[in-house]
Amino acid sequence: MEQEGRVDHLHNIIKKLLVKLEKSLTIVTRVTSLFKSPFLRVTKELLQKASSRLVMLISHKTKAGKYPMSSHEIPQEAGQQEAGNSPDILVVGGGPAGSTISALLAEHGYDVVLLEKSHHPRFHIGESLLPLNLPLFERLGVEKQVASIGILKYGAEFVSPDHDNSSHFDFGRALDKSFPHAYEVRRSELDEILFKNAIAKGARTHEGCRVTGTEFPGGARAVVTSQSEDGQITRWHPRFVVDASGRDTLLANQFGIKQRNKKHASAAIYGHFEGAERRIGKEEGNITLFWFEHGWFWYIPLADGSVSVGAVCWPYYMKSRKVDKEQFFFDTIALCPPLAERLQAAKLASPVTATGNFSYTSSRSSGSNYLMLGDAFAFIDPVFSSGVLLAMNSAFAGAEAIDVCLRNPAEASRALKKFDRTSRHGLRTFSWIIYRMTTPVMRNLFMQPSNKFRLQETLLSVLAGDLFGNTPVQSRLMLFKIIYYLQSIFMFKESYRAWLRRKRTIKEVVGEMTAP
Ligand SMILES: Cc1cc2nc3c(=O)[nH]c(=O)nc-3n(C[C@H](O)[C@H](O)[C@H](O)COP(=O)(O)OP(=O)(O)OC[C@H]3O[C@@H](n4cnc5c(N)ncnc54)[C@H](O)[C@@H]3O)c2cc1C
Repeated sequence: MEQEGRVDHLHNIIKKLLVKLEKSLTIVTRVTSLFKSPFLRVTKELLQKASSRLVMLISHKTKAGKYPMSSHEIPQEAGQQEAGNSPDILVVGGGPAGSTISALLAEHGYDVVLLEKSHHPRFHIGESLLPLNLPLFERLGVEKQVASIGILKYGAEFVSPDHDNSSHFDFGRALDKSFPHAYEVRRSELDEILFKNAIAKGARTHEGCRVTGTEFPGGARAVVTSQSEDGQITRWHPRFVVDASGRDTLLANQFGIKQRNKKHASAAIYGHFEGAERRIGKEEGNITLFWFEHGWFWYIPLADGSVSVGAVCWPYYMKSRKVDKEQFFFDTIALCPPLAERLQAAKLASPVTATGNFSYTSSRSSGSNYLMLGDAFAFIDPVFSSGVLLAMNSAFAGAEAIDVCLRNPAEASRALKKFDRTSRHGLRTFSWIIYRMTTPVMRNLFMQPSNKFRLQETLLSVLAGDLFGNTPVQSRLMLFKIIYYLQSIFMFKESYRAWLRRKRTIKEVVGEMTAP
């Protein structure tokens, strides 16, 4: 007994020494990362390896029950890790936002862990990209791979039941003519390219690994818990956490800061068709938007010959469903004759998926050692195909902010504010148009576009996603807004009716959401 007691005492001393050593190594590693010299870089890598080994050693002993430790000091049940559990950055979610920021930060020399709950390639909706996605692909070095899976999208066509003509928008005629096209892609393929790029740039990735909780106990490191498919639980201790969990909104849910959008509500039902009518030549890859009584449809031709079709509707319409999803989808398509005509010879080639109201935002986008990207922060509506662009753009802005936070903590607050401004800027610009899309004046502006005062070019620049560069879109958009408001005064009766209908519909949704 006495001997066992002495052994336990010795174990405890060794445990304390190992924990101190690991902490010291982490500090030295951090200090060396401040300098860019090759010698210090090698030293940093060696120290990181030593630190990782130490964590594994401690974890192993903990698992064996010999060195029980506080959960905040070291990872629990981490024997399965191939490397350290204390990365610089832990990214939750390997969609466009998560994979982009992981690639950028790993390229910068940071130790990045990226956890994805499913396995690539996995299905995701959101197949139509914008021209301003292309410079981002170029900066990541994946532009050729994206081109190989996509079909060229030169513009968009709008079809309205209240207008005899359809209207065509050609990205090549935007204010800045240097981004004349985008792509339509299968998201399973695009997201896999971006995820593999993060691996190639040095991020440590785990698929089939769901983040189940995060803690921010104060001090240098957060605690993130993940569970892999075989049930193994791992505790991670990153310096910075990135939430890129998409519409799962991991952190916003945890903090209780996710709010339903009070100005907008939308739900969707969608599927893929084979044998649908396609345009020929340059227009083959263009997206078509069909307005109908309860919302609008997207019609996205994909490179493999299939077409993605989805209805984005007011939630009240989706709730009226009394038949199964597939039948409801076909019934909804029948409400839009020009779309039904294009699908006359087509066969449904996928299951039909429906989503509930997906319009929300979070009241903050960051804290001292975390930030939220893309859909994990906010999502409004897919009408302008802006989701992937905004997600990737927020990842570029987020990488810049995190780099400042970790290198120069005194500047962290300024960097995070800048990140917040960038994230909100894109959402704000798109939402102004989205909220007015159902008004007769906005319909007319889309269906009878005039280039007086370069209005059509301005609209095209917004549709191309040209919101973050040097193009004078914002000042031109001011003029667009003035013209919109003036025309609304001239069409007061129709505008007021549309505004009232919209307000009532949203109030119903918000009322239902706040009901006990
Ligand atoms: C009906 C509809 C149509 C759309 N159409 C378009 C379109 O045409 N064009 C467009 O640009 N955008 C479109 N969007 C929006 C687009 O899909 C999203 O904006 C975009 O995918 C956001 O990227 P993200 O990286 O933020 O999130 P996501 O792409 O959703 O990626 C999040 C990732 O996180 C993973 N994850 C979630 N929780 C966890 C967890 N706890 N642990 C580990 N991993 C986790 C998920 O598996 C997923 O891979 C559409 C959206 C909807 C709803």
